[in-house]
Amino acid sequence: PVDRLPKIQEARLKLPVLAEEQVIMEAVRENPCIVICGETGSGKTTQVPQFLYEAGYGSGRGIIGITEPRRVAAVSMSHRVAKEMNLSTRVVSYQIRYEGNVTSDTKIKFMTDGVLLKEIQKDFLLQRYSVIIIDEAHERSVYTDILIGLLSRIVPLRNKKGLPMKLLVMSATLRVEDFTENIKLFRTPPPVIKVDARQFPVTIHFNKRTPMDDYTGEVFQKICKIHRMLPPGGILVFLTGQAEVHNLCRKLRNAFPFRKGNTTTGEDADADTSEAMRKFKKAKQKKTVSLPRIDLDNYSALPMDEGDEDRDAGIGDEEYDGSDLEIGDDGTSTGEKADPSIPLYVLPLYSLLAPEQQAKVFRPPPPGTRLCVVATNVAETSLTIPSIKYVVDCGRVKKRFYDRVTGVSSFKVTWTSQASANQRAGRAGRTEPGHCYRLYSSAVFGDFSLFSEAEITRRPVEDLVLQMKDLNIDKVVNFPFPTAPSAEALVAAEQLLVSLGALTEPPRTGSVKEMEQARLSCPVTPLGRAMASFPVAPRCAKMLALGKQQDCLPYVIAVVAAMTVREIFEDLDRPAPSEDESSKLSQRRARLTQMRRLWAGQGASLLLGDLMVMLGAVGACEFAGCTPKFCEDNGLRYKAMVEIRRLRGQLTNAVNAVCSEVGVFVNPKMTPPTEHQVVCLRQIVLAGLGDHLARRAQGEDMLDPKLKNGYKTALLDDPVYIHPTSALFKTLPDFIVYQEIMETTKMYMRGVSAVEAEWIP
Ligand code: ADP
Ligand code: MG
Repeated sequence: PVDRLPKIQEARLKLPVLAEEQVIMEAVRENPCIVICGETGSGKTTQVPQFLYEAGYGSGRGIIGITEPRRVAAVSMSHRVAKEMNLSTRVVSYQIRYEGNVTSDTKIKFMTDGVLLKEIQKDFLLQRYSVIIIDEAHERSVYTDILIGLLSRIVPLRNKKGLPMKLLVMSATLRVEDFTENIKLFRTPPPVIKVDARQFPVTIHFNKRTPMDDYTGEVFQKICKIHRMLPPGGILVFLTGQAEVHNLCRKLRNAFPFRKGNTTTGEDADADTSEAMRKFKKAKQKKTVSLPRIDLDNYSALPMDEGDEDRDAGIGDEEYDGSDLEIGDDGTSTGEKADPSIPLYVLPLYSLLAPEQQAKVFRPPPPGTRLCVVATNVAETSLTIPSIKYVVDCGRVKKRFYDRVTGVSSFKVTWTSQASANQRAGRAGRTEPGHCYRLYSSAVFGDFSLFSEAEITRRPVEDLVLQMKDLNIDKVVNFPFPTAPSAEALVAAEQLLVSLGALTEPPRTGSVKEMEQARLSCPVTPLGRAMASFPVAPRCAKMLALGKQQDCLPYVIAVVAAMTVREIFEDLDRPAPSEDESSKLSQRRARLTQMRRLWAGQGASLLLGDLMVMLGAVGACEFAGCTPKFCEDNGLRYKAMVEIRRLRGQLTNAVNAVCSEVGVFVNPKMTPPTEHQVVCLRQIVLAGLGDHLARRAQGEDMLDPKLKNGYKTALLDDPVYIHPTSALFKTLPDFIVYQEIMETTKMYMRGVSAVEAEWIP
């Protein structure tokens, strides 16, 4: 029996999903798998777990598990459900990549999809659970898709064993054919239950013209107009990224000041930064004569049948909105004058925002103010913000694009899909009729694709293939994907993993057909299992597995953590917001460049290149206590540095679980690597990034001006370049490895490190 507060009960009864409780529970009893569709805000995420709990699914044979593609949703929904049920967070809990509050009393567990995938690796039958809900399936995140594929097999297995388990797939859109009409996935199509949305009409206003460049400026103008001229009601704004969100919040707060107390975090008493830096750099490096060599066969492998309870998926936990990439700042002051008479309560909302900050959007705004939430597409479906009457939609979304063959990637702001735009508009009509302002014309809307593609078709899949092989799914091509990745992507992944030593080399004998088959079903090696246990991409995992040699592990962990977290440095290429700020900016640019040069060091250490800069930055930042001020002063993104700190802890645990004899720990006062160690580190980096080798153009090629400072790679016809901000921009070594190629104005390599010709296999 659940003892809800009367006020909560009253609010629940208004949710459309409540009307379907009987239907849903009957379908659950009679079918192993069901699909529930209902508009955002209809109550799926908060209510369905409660239905199951009240029907006894939480007690007895197992607990109720719910997966979310975003960390934000896992945390906030667990709190909400605990509150609605009047239960402690010991009972309704959450688990995300780095943290959780699950206890032995937990009955309802919200988690990210990556977390559940890791649990399947430890217990394929998921015996702790009596029911699994896959939420937000319409987002088609890679891990959601894989989980549905796996669960389509696990559920029948459980039933066969007499330990029945149920699967519920929940979607905010009606487009579920990929799940229901896919015979490979579910031989009997699961029933689909539709929840009628209690949606008030939303009037759509298209722009006559579509601003192509300054859409954030247009968004700002629109909000000002709504706020000045239209009746009360919250405003929800959709932008593409975190930097944009912050810029707009700042502009709005300047235009409509609202101050109550001081909301900024207190200034930490920070260590003397230059002192910290000097200490970090104060290297007493001994000269070594002969170059050490790393033994590529000397890696750490996982002890059989032992896993670290804490290990946890990482890759899938990343946010999907790409909101991390800083993009051009368009300044703070335009023609709008500060207007204190109309307070606007402006709140940002994006995935990486601290949970306390996120929680603010659910609370009523201070009396006499109007709420304005400036969000990335997190607010599109996962979270329902109360009392929104106006939606302002820029119509765009920031996404990462990969070239399937070359792996070249780029972040692009593109038009969103019609389905997404309609989801965004729908946010305006939850509590009363609303308005949606689309800052593009109806003709442009007509050209949008109907739906967004499943993520799995848009990115490399080596991490997934490794995870699946670790689950002993050798023939990944036969896996029941809701939408399968391309054959090319699967072949490329398998080849990379073989070259990293994570999969066994396929035999070179037999018929063409047999060899072809074998090439696509290589089993995992002990090294591959160890790599699969590290929550990072396979190339980085390989580096970790080799890291114990020459006491390099703490450095490898720090470098891998830095490589895994996106954009640790402030963008130095950013254009100045205005004329008079440009000299200030160029001064800052010069200083930060200087800083990076200091971190890169000289001589031997410089050859580790950009990875040395990362290592220096991480070391110096930790030494100074990882304060916001240190980061601000030194051009580091504070959020990224905090993330790196957590990831270092997590990787350290993971490495200790694989080879406990090294007993590595996170040392906040890590000294820089010796020259000797730097040479080892470069070889370890080559072992991980071996397929990302580039050679400086030479001979006749040099005569071609396009190729003068260019590099040749195996897969690209066109040259690629070292970025001017790279530590190795002036050195131009003959051979280098790179972390990735990003196409901006040119094809630039990022994360460049020099290698010696004689190391190359
Ligand atoms: P769905 O999953 O179908 O999109 P939810 O279960 O997330 O719907 O939301 C149902 C209702 O609960 C919404 O009206 C939303 O405003 C409300 N709600 C969700 N989380 C909170 C919260 N933290 N505080 C207050 N109301 C909330
Ligand atoms: Mg939901």
